[in-house]
Amino acid sequence: MSNLSSASYGPAPLADVLFSVASLGCPKNLVDSETLVGRLVALGAELATDAAEVDLFLLNTCGFLRSARAEAEEYVAQALEQKAAGMIGRLIVAGCAVVSDGKELAEKYPGVDAWISPYDEPKIGEIVVALFQEDDYKMEETDDALDVPCPAEAAAATFYHTPAHSLTLDDSQRLLLTEPHVAYLKIADGCDRFCSYCTIPNIRGRFVSKPFETVLDEAARLADSGVRELVLIAQETTFWGSDLYGQPDLKRLLAALKEKNQFDWIRVLYSYPLFWDSELTALFKMEAPGQTSILPYVDLPLQHCNSDLLKKMNRKVDKAQIEDLIAQLRAEIPDLVLRTSLIVGFPGETDAMYQELADFVEKHRFERAGVFEFSPEPGAPAATMDDQVPDEIKRRRYDRLYAKQERISRQYARGFIGKTVDVMLDTRAVSEGGAVMRNVCIGRTVADAPDVDPVVYVTGRDLDLGVPTPCEIVDAQGLDLIAVPVDPDKLFVSKEERRSAAMRAESEALGEQEVKRQKNGKNKGQKGGKNR
Ligand code: SF4
Repeated sequence: MSNLSSASYGPAPLADVLFSVASLGCPKNLVDSETLVGRLVALGAELATDAAEVDLFLLNTCGFLRSARAEAEEYVAQALEQKAAGMIGRLIVAGCAVVSDGKELAEKYPGVDAWISPYDEPKIGEIVVALFQEDDYKMEETDDALDVPCPAEAAAATFYHTPAHSLTLDDSQRLLLTEPHVAYLKIADGCDRFCSYCTIPNIRGRFVSKPFETVLDEAARLADSGVRELVLIAQETTFWGSDLYGQPDLKRLLAALKEKNQFDWIRVLYSYPLFWDSELTALFKMEAPGQTSILPYVDLPLQHCNSDLLKKMNRKVDKAQIEDLIAQLRAEIPDLVLRTSLIVGFPGETDAMYQELADFVEKHRFERAGVFEFSPEPGAPAATMDDQVPDEIKRRRYDRLYAKQERISRQYARGFIGKTVDVMLDTRAVSEGGAVMRNVCIGRTVADAPDVDPVVYVTGRDLDLGVPTPCEIVDAQGLDLIAVPVDPDKLFVSKEERRSAAMRAESEALGEQEVKRQKNGKNKGQKGGKNR
């Protein structure tokens, strides 16, 4: 790493740099991308949204699963083609795949200018300045102006990975890449669980919490920037505080965020089936409009229900504990939306164990669930376990469980028809022709987390994005809902509807006149008029 410190360059050393970013993987990686972007913008670089050519392309990768690493490689290969075509000046690859597969990828793709692991992302500014100073030098070199010392060592050292016990959590310089009214807040990172199928602890290090005050400060900045829905994330949110305050203490954090009353909605993702108690569950409920609600939405990845398999997965709970917890959550959180994720085909899973999982899903009827096939990941103990399940059996179990859950979630969706619920309007729909449809918005209910859950299509007028809007659900299409605003002034009446409404009004008016006329006639009749 060049000893190029920020002191050695001016306030906006990247002022001429136009860059774009692609963020792969989970919301935790998205927050990292937002921080990488924020750091470059703070040095004067400009984030392009749809520029044909950029000076720098930043790719933030995921390395969790084989499929994710394959996707990262596709992006790298495509970006190198664009670089060769002159559409990209410099290419930087960051993120988890740099830890999981960095060396192999660097040998395979020498055209990448720098590889930066999550541990070295705080250095992104210096790394990019060094890269572009190198360019300036080269430019000058061609002009034969040899008076600027060249940071030679920067050119060589393009692979930045400084393993550490845990990541440095500093997201103070974020630039949101989400819709302006929704933001993720990473309250911790890394993991101490070492589930036998998972490589996260090897990639993102041991569990580390963001201090209480730091979380509150970040939340306040997000609220000031216009965020209305805050989504708390970590590898394990329910473990927050255990490394700093001697015990998991998510409830203290949620209570403080609730009391600050800065958001409409606070959603908690990635909880673990431990450390739940009634003080914590009591916080998860809808409050009156204008009050911050910790949404009754619990994301609880369970992976399986068979106690022997849970043990082999190194999950710290058994079936009885899981079922007790589900019963407690259902009993203590009104209108609970329970999301989980399940793995089929884990080594040693028999037909009976699969059937036990299918019955478990039928019994607990999760409102939301992701189903995954076990993927043997290099470095994860489960990858080398005996009794690996053949792919075709894995696929068959996946298809059956997915279909079962799809049926349950469709029935849940149909249960909304006729109800009035708040919908957070996220974006305006875009027609097939690419036109923005002003009267059709895409949003989410309390039951829909961003990016992973179904959506609601709301047809109305003067709809404001980023506001929880009371809507009547009029239909369901698969898992998605169709709605209209409750506010009659926002009801969108199409030309046809307007015409038929006018005709209806006219005929009603005519009807009334006729009635009146007849009444008058009768009156007259009664007063000696004639009957019709
Ligand atoms: S809890 Fe388990 S599955 Fe989740 S990140 Fe940690 S080790 Fe991976």
